[in-house]
Amino acid sequence: MKTVKKKKVTILYNHLWQGWADDELVFSNAGETKKVKADVVVFALGGASWKVTGSDGNWTNYFNEKGVNTNKFFPSNCAYQVNWNPNFIKTYQGSPLKNCGFTCGNISRKGEAVVTEFGIEGSGIYPLSPEIRKQLIQNKSANIQIDFKPDLPLEEIIERIENKGKLSIKEVLEKKINLSTTQIELLKLSSSKDEYSNVQFLSELIKSYPLHITGFAPMDDAISTVGGIALDEVTDSLELKKLPNHYCLGEMLDWDAPTGGYLLQACFSMGKFLADKLNTK
Ligand SMILES: Cc1cc2nc3c(=O)[nH]c(=O)nc-3n(C[C@H](O)[C@H](O)[C@H](O)COP(=O)(O)OP(=O)(O)OC[C@H]3O[C@@H](n4cnc5c(N)ncnc54)[C@H](O)[C@@H]3O)c2cc1C
Repeated sequence: MKTVKKKKVTILYNHLWQGWADDELVFSNAGETKKVKADVVVFALGGASWKVTGSDGNWTNYFNEKGVNTNKFFPSNCAYQVNWNPNFIKTYQGSPLKNCGFTCGNISRKGEAVVTEFGIEGSGIYPLSPEIRKQLIQNKSANIQIDFKPDLPLEEIIERIENKGKLSIKEVLEKKINLSTTQIELLKLSSSKDEYSNVQFLSELIKSYPLHITGFAPMDDAISTVGGIALDEVTDSLELKKLPNHYCLGEMLDWDAPTGGYLLQACFSMGKFLADKLNTK
């Protein structure tokens, strides 16, 4: 902040950018319209979720009018809808699925997820977002597989169940495989009585539990969005090809990353990269 003050930077709060009038930027503030002519413009307008923070994605038209292409926004790093069995979800909503492996298409991650009334979300699911989104857009549904025991090979699970002695199947799943009651209930829901007592079938289900995703969470609830300014509209220096001396960075550009620091790091890195570039101009 000391450097910012030393350099006589003026920060104008609550100024809503509303596009261009000829080559001037138009802002509204407290009912007044202000026009600004700038040598260099850096846009960092964010994505289109959590509108309460001001990031509403309402600026795409302004760029389109200048011939700059934007892509439709979609939620990323969000919860996904699952049509759970109503009796199951009544009892198990809010339960975690810990230390699992999650796979969608060719993306696999270890992590955890929470079963919610709406569907499923969490650190194991968010990184699958690009593939889940691709399938949801193409097919209106997506398929993920959950490995309830990613550190136990299939053969080991089979052996433990086969050597269950006097334990019931439920007891062996609890005591020898260490599955939670939520996981055991899911296994029961996805198998017939015969399948549940078939060692091979049950072991394979533990290693690859299928979950059908039927939709995205509402956009505004998503941690981040994809869409916005198409990447081929900017140069390697983040300058708009059709508007020289106008730069875009951060989530307003159409790229994706898993949450957990990667989104913020990418935004900070773009900011530092561009500041270094512009300060040597
Ligand atoms: C709940 C939540 C949790 C998150 N957790 C993580 C996390 O753990 N790790 C991680 O890496 N990322 C996380 N993220 C994502 C991360 O915060 C964003 O990717 C990042 O803040 C984007 O930075 P940005 O500067 O591009 O946009 P933003 O931070 O969204 O800033 C854009 C700014 O532009 C302003 N603006 C928009 N339109 C106009 C306009 N027309 N005129 C004037 N101003 C305008 C907005 O008011 C806003 O202040 C989280 C996001 C949310 C919502």
